[in-house]
Amino acid sequence: MGDSQLVHPPLFTYISMLTLLTIVPPFVILMWYTNVHADGSVLQTFNFLKENGLQGLIDIWPRPTAVAGKIIICYALFEAILQLLLPGKRVEGPISPTGHRPVYKANGVAAYIVTLITYLSLWWFGIFNPTIVYDHLGEILSTLNFGSLIFCLFLYIKGHVAPSSTDHGSSGNIIIDYYWGMELYPRIGKHFDIKVFTNCRFGMISWAVLPITYCIKQYEEYGNLSDSMLVHTIITLVYVTKFFWWEAGYWNTMDIAHDRAGFYICWGCLVFLPCIYTSPGMYLVKHPVNLGPQLAISILVAGILCVYINYDCDRQRQEFRKTNGKALVWGRPPSKIVASYTTTTGETKTSLLLTSGWWGLSRHFHYVPEILASFFWCVPALFNHFIPYFYVIYLIVLLLDRAKRDDERCKSKYGKYWKKYCDKVPYRVIPGIY
Ligand code: NDP
Repeated sequence: MGDSQLVHPPLFTYISMLTLLTIVPPFVILMWYTNVHADGSVLQTFNFLKENGLQGLIDIWPRPTAVAGKIIICYALFEAILQLLLPGKRVEGPISPTGHRPVYKANGVAAYIVTLITYLSLWWFGIFNPTIVYDHLGEILSTLNFGSLIFCLFLYIKGHVAPSSTDHGSSGNIIIDYYWGMELYPRIGKHFDIKVFTNCRFGMISWAVLPITYCIKQYEEYGNLSDSMLVHTIITLVYVTKFFWWEAGYWNTMDIAHDRAGFYICWGCLVFLPCIYTSPGMYLVKHPVNLGPQLAISILVAGILCVYINYDCDRQRQEFRKTNGKALVWGRPPSKIVASYTTTTGETKTSLLLTSGWWGLSRHFHYVPEILASFFWCVPALFNHFIPYFYVIYLIVLLLDRAKRDDERCKSKYGKYWKKYCDKVPYRVIPGIY
């Protein structure tokens, strides 16, 4: 069951689940509509909905089409084939609460590079013009929206009738099971990991493919590429490249090791991520801004630096755990807490908690550069409209909630050892403030 139930009262959790299930799918369509058809103006969309009500939403909601379906199926199949066939090192994930250890093939970098080269080659050789994706984006998001809701139903049924590992179970409530998911590590066959597909391959690769699409669209529409779009795209690509470089580390994080495969994670990565995470670029297509070399380079350097610090935080924790606390942290032996805990099967195990380096500044310091990096890839849009900053606001809410959820989960897992960590590192995210 999702950790948020440990943090918030059950009624609050239930109401927020129902709200998200009903509000977020249309929100994705409104985000696309505002950026592409309402001049990036939230007010214009708001006034349209005020005047036209629900019928207005139905009118602007693009119907799923065959072209959109073909684009999605080709992309999904291509990514699934790369995931299955490309070679990669064998990597073990963390031990789950029931003692199960998932095994992966780490071929994310190869899949990412092959996808980008293929996409750019299709454009370069005139086989497929990416502007088709931008021109059909509304239909694509609509088709993805419905298709992914059905896909989550498949996950729910699979979790009941054919779970892949011991890490599954029902809460007894159909809505909770659909929302949070039934299985932690669902697979098709022995090797095709569904969460690697939805989160990493379909979701994260779309976060590189779509900004490239937006660049090509702007270039074809205006005859040149604005420096704002270029800066936005480069920082985004550095971030996504970093993600794939560190993909095996991602398999140790909350998304994979704690959150089950349901609407929250899978629909989120299949629909919300491609639309909302790429929305600043979607806005920039029709709102090119000329930053000038000085401002453009300053934003670019600041953004890349934040991505690097975020990467270094994750790397530090991962190296520390991998070497059993022996790796140097900022040139010194790490300070640590040896924390023991009991698994659901009653076994006692130990984990090491790093209390120096980035992890000694605050318990979730890595979220600070993550949020700043997102600010730097949104700020090339400057300040004419609010919409390019929606992603930053969303990320702040998501990560502060996530920090709280993670703290609660670790508190219940490690008990007095977690308290010791909190005494030593008192701030949750921003050192000295929060
Ligand atoms: P973390 O990498 O922060 O992992 C949290 C887990 O690490 C805890 O549950 C605990 O697990 C372990 N841990 C906690 N404190 C310590 C410590 N001091 N020493 C060693 N291990 C510790 O998880 P996230 O998934 O939140 O973040 C991973 C990356 O993904 C970050 O870079 C983050 O910024 C990024 N991210 C991006 C998002 C986006 O939408 N853009 C959303 C979420 C994350 P255990 O049970 O193993 O002890």
